[in-house]
Amino acid sequence: MRYQRSSALFQEAQQYIPGGVNSPVRAFKSVGGVPVFMKSAKGAYLTDEDDNTYIDYINSWGPAIVGHTHPVVLEAIQKQAENGFSFGTPTELETEIAKFITINVPNIEQIRMVSSGTEACMSAIRLARGYTGREKIIKFEGCYHGHSDSFLIKAGSGAATFGNPNSPGVTQGTAKDTLLARYNDWEQIQDLFKNNPGEIAAIIIEPVAGNMGCVLPENDFLQKLRQICDENKSLLIFDEVMTGFRLAFGGAQEVFNVKADLVTYGKVIGGGLPVGAFAGSNEIMDHLAPKGAVYQAGTLSGNPLAMSAGLTTLQLIKNNVDFYKKLEKTTETLDFEIGKILNEKGIAHRINRKGSMMSVFFHTASVSNFDEAQQANHPLFNNFFHQLLERGIYLPPSGYETWFISHAINDLEIEKTLEAVRNFHYE
Ligand SMILES: *Cc1c(COP(=O)(O)O)cnc(C)c1O
Repeated sequence: MRYQRSSALFQEAQQYIPGGVNSPVRAFKSVGGVPVFMKSAKGAYLTDEDDNTYIDYINSWGPAIVGHTHPVVLEAIQKQAENGFSFGTPTELETEIAKFITINVPNIEQIRMVSSGTEACMSAIRLARGYTGREKIIKFEGCYHGHSDSFLIKAGSGAATFGNPNSPGVTQGTAKDTLLARYNDWEQIQDLFKNNPGEIAAIIIEPVAGNMGCVLPENDFLQKLRQICDENKSLLIFDEVMTGFRLAFGGAQEVFNVKADLVTYGKVIGGGLPVGAFAGSNEIMDHLAPKGAVYQAGTLSGNPLAMSAGLTTLQLIKNNVDFYKKLEKTTETLDFEIGKILNEKGIAHRINRKGSMMSVFFHTASVSNFDEAQQANHPLFNNFFHQLLERGIYLPPSGYETWFISHAINDLEIEKTLEAVRNFHYE
């Protein structure tokens, strides 16, 4: 049986770990079936506990952008480990990575390291609130900014402009400070500012959304957000946990030429080790403790192993002048060729793509917000997912996720992927 050991391991895991996993999407609840337990990864490939191999289109949800277990990153981690895992004191390495990032990313002067994207976004809105002296934030339906309370909010019913808790345990008190808007809905943003004058600390957005599937900003949406934030003295926060160092080295700020006041990072920045970060101008970042009054801290923040993995990964990217060109070319080829095959099969679909992010929606209309992403044919996606998995292609296990293309994917992997898509049959 193809997934014998994975099935046994999942059975056992469920006894000791809630739902058998340490992060919900891994459980395959959306696509059904038994989650595949991996034991190793190298370059473009994953190997599971039953010794099946897969071409990986998740890449640890982004971090493995240079391919898994890159020899140069591996060596850096090994070398650092010899010198100690963690000191709880400042290290030169932290300044080195901060300097490297602030020099090579537009529009940021200081950066604070944390250990996850969740922490980065949670801290960024605290800083935005502390800096502006305001309490409300605007977030978009379908955008994910980690699991801190302020973001686990869904749209309120009817005329309510504030959100409702999207998880038990999130209080109404917290929910009332998060305003919800539809992605790409400029009118709604104008209304929210009109109805909450002088109260909005910040807008937080995934500048290219990846957490409702890949959804792009349309009609200068980001530029308009920049403008309305300026007019109202609110901060614009780009959550670049996914897009940072992926769409370009300078992320969405560089690609769209829009300046955010605060930017959050995660995923690629740690090269596969647990790292998040938030960054901005001296003027804003100086409000953080110990210099300023807005508190934020972390025992393992700036951890030397994590910093060496992150810095080495970022240097590998930066030193390869064709890095993003290749990623884009791979993704474009997948988009065109998969589209062609699905058309030949007469299967309605939309492929959204930006840089090395893409999603296949089985939908007849365009997808530019969460409502539209929900209207896609998700049972068909689940079918597609499982048929490709059987053929050794590992897609994100949900129709609401983006694919993360890595630099290790070459013509051979593209061809194998297309062959699997050609063999896909509508059930
Ligand atoms: C993954 C993600 C987060 C959360 O990061 P974690 O490291 O999982 O806490 C936040 N924002 C975006 C856009 C993400 O994709």
